[in-house]
Amino acid sequence: MLNIVLFGPPGCGKGTQSEKLISKYQLVHLSTGDILRAEINNQTKLGIEAKTFMDKGVLVPDEVVIGMIASKIDFNKNAKGFIFDGFPRTTAQAEALDKLLNDRKIPITCMLSLEVDHDELVKRLLNRGITSGRSDDQNPLIIENRIKEYHNKTAPVIKFYKSQGKFHNIEGIGSIEEIFDRLCKTIDKAYSI
Ligand code: AMP
Repeated sequence: MLNIVLFGPPGCGKGTQSEKLISKYQLVHLSTGDILRAEINNQTKLGIEAKTFMDKGVLVPDEVVIGMIASKIDFNKNAKGFIFDGFPRTTAQAEALDKLLNDRKIPITCMLSLEVDHDELVKRLLNRGITSGRSDDQNPLIIENRIKEYHNKTAPVIKFYKSQGKFHNIEGIGSIEEIFDRLCKTIDKAYSI
């Protein structure tokens, strides 16, 4: 099974590259951001609670997203593999994911971290705000909060995967195809080991 953690700050291209990777490697895409937005659209209790955090650009509590991911993994029992996009975002989430996957004997193959500088992230997110209508992509203060949350709470997850020898740094600047090519080369190498 090929299980990938696609990692990086908001606006680094995780969503765009996930779409290409799921079609090439036939993986199930698990994006906690997408799942949360679907919950908001359906006005579920979880969605209404999550929205209060998302509107401020801060992380939703760990137990909420961990529970969501656990049920999605079990819902896709016959998957060839998963792409985790936007999850894990804290070390507690990374530990919980490891436990979930180890219990099911389907460990993470590799963690791919897309590197993009701050100014480029802000530019991309504001552009996406125009086309996607996502309110958290339209307000520069919320964008800065999300990037700050990434540095404070999410970047430490790198250490977790480094210690397992699964961390790979990928330059996230260039054309979509160039970045996709870099990701595929790294995945193919990690998967063949
Ligand atoms: P995204 O679509 O990945 O940029 O996520 C949008 C928002 O959803 C984030 O700013 C968080 O508020 C929330 N979110 C998504 N994934 C997670 C996660 N793994 N842990 C906590 N909050 C999350």
